[in-house]
Amino acid sequence: MKKAIIIGSGIAGIAAAIRLQNKGYRVQVLEKNSYPGGKLTQLSGNGFRFDAGPSLFTMPHLVTELFELSGKKASNYFNYEQLDVICNYFYEDGTRISASADIAVFADEIERKTTDTAEKVKKHLNKSKFIYGVTKEQFLEKSLHKINSFLSLSTLVAVIKLPFLNIFSSMNQVNEKAFTDTKTIRLFNRYATYNGSNPYKAPGILNIIPHLEFGLGAYLPKGGMHSITNSLVTLAKEIGVEFHFNQEVTAIETTNNLVKSVTTTSDKFLADVVVCNADIHTVYEKLIPSAKKLKEVDKQERSSSALIFYWGIDKEFPALDVHNIMFTEDYKTEFDHIFESKTIYEDPTIYINITSKHIKEDAPEGKENWFVMINVPSVYGQDWDCMVADARKNILRKISKNLGVAIESLILFEEHLTPQLIQDKTYSFKGSLYGTSSNSRFAAFFRHKNFSSQYKNLYFVGGSVHPGGGIPLALSSAKIIEQLIK
Ligand SMILES: Cc1cc2nc3c(=O)[nH]c(=O)nc-3n(C[C@H](O)[C@H](O)[C@H](O)COP(=O)(O)OP(=O)(O)OC[C@H]3O[C@@H](n4cnc5c(N)ncnc54)[C@H](O)[C@@H]3O)c2cc1C
Repeated sequence: MKKAIIIGSGIAGIAAAIRLQNKGYRVQVLEKNSYPGGKLTQLSGNGFRFDAGPSLFTMPHLVTELFELSGKKASNYFNYEQLDVICNYFYEDGTRISASADIAVFADEIERKTTDTAEKVKKHLNKSKFIYGVTKEQFLEKSLHKINSFLSLSTLVAVIKLPFLNIFSSMNQVNEKAFTDTKTIRLFNRYATYNGSNPYKAPGILNIIPHLEFGLGAYLPKGGMHSITNSLVTLAKEIGVEFHFNQEVTAIETTNNLVKSVTTTSDKFLADVVVCNADIHTVYEKLIPSAKKLKEVDKQERSSSALIFYWGIDKEFPALDVHNIMFTEDYKTEFDHIFESKTIYEDPTIYINITSKHIKEDAPEGKENWFVMINVPSVYGQDWDCMVADARKNILRKISKNLGVAIESLILFEEHLTPQLIQDKTYSFKGSLYGTSSNSRFAAFFRHKNFSSQYKNLYFVGGSVHPGGGIPLALSSAKIIEQLIK
């Protein structure tokens, strides 16, 4: 039986393990941490449970198809519900917009609360659907670096339609053309942050993202986001995947154009195929320094990172839903801070995720589990202690103002996560959430490919390589290497 080694048990590593085990390999997953999931993990304390990383779940079929592929019924392992309200938005002037999953209701809400019309919203979401339809197969489901990926009718159609996909304008430029009210523009610009990018630089093609929520749906797994990791690890183990925790890979050994084995802090594993789920930077810098590093790995700008406070709150807030955004007054300045001066803006846009709205066990009765996140730069030698202390004050002030309640005295439990900690825990280069940003027109083409041109049996999956960061794309990368490995 051929042996496949997977380096890292992030969501992409687990998905790759399941796919290769089903392909007939003996699969061993080597993970440096004592737990699986990488960024997709959880924490708890004082009766509160929090998802530590991702909180928004889209395209659930990419999870459930792994069970079907393994001959199992997904609902025996993993269940989720579709959210009726995608997000509640708060603006400094007191305006509140509730984004219903029902497009007609959402469009009417925009018409009532802004100077934009419902028609404009529907048109914009139709365009988003169009971009998804044209690019899905080519950009999300196939390697962009194999010639045969381009020899199909769908590619020809995608190429012909390129001028209509807004790649030559920034997302903000497209949104400013589509809408007149800065509130609507901010709402749609925010989707650039779903892959850690800057809407003032990222191409308008990223307007594909609203379709993922409004067209395909926003979901919440029963048991929280961490149940994605848990259920897939259970499945993987059942079909025979072997997990080795506390096994940090320190080197990948090669002979000529083949990878032969992988060395960890305490062992050596022979391999016929090696799949790296670790950040591509880490792989080149630490694991296989002899490899010719592709120029684009260094050239690409990193995605943004995050500062998160996990707060157990001694009160329930009916004005808040599962996903909530409290907008800055000056979005452009906020992104200049994140991507230009690499600092944190004093009036940041705040995201609050509260799973206990639907999962009652996540907080004691009458209380709520708040995951409070702002977008921040990745690690460039900043003084994080100082920046975190300032940000905490600004966040508390802004939330208290928006809700009309002093929040600090309600905090019963507190933990936080910084870009530095994200880097330390997952070896994500510079602590960025989504690998490289999409802050340039052709970012999609410069993201690292899913295979090595130098070593025939070396493959790459996860948020730092094609097709990009976020759970759906990380899962898609595992699907792509399954096609590539003959
Ligand atoms: C705070 C936060 C919020 C996010 N929000 C969302 C969201 O709402 N929705 C969404 O879809 N995505 C979100 N994301 C992004 C999403 O979490 C990631 O894109 C995705 O989880 C990446 O998975 P991965 O498998 O590529 O890598 P990772 O999760 O980074 O896993 C890599 C694994 O490799 C291991 N590893 C690294 N080096 C070695 C080594 N040398 N030896 C052994 N093991 C090694 C690491 O320990 C880790 O377990 C968020 C991320 C964060 C941090």
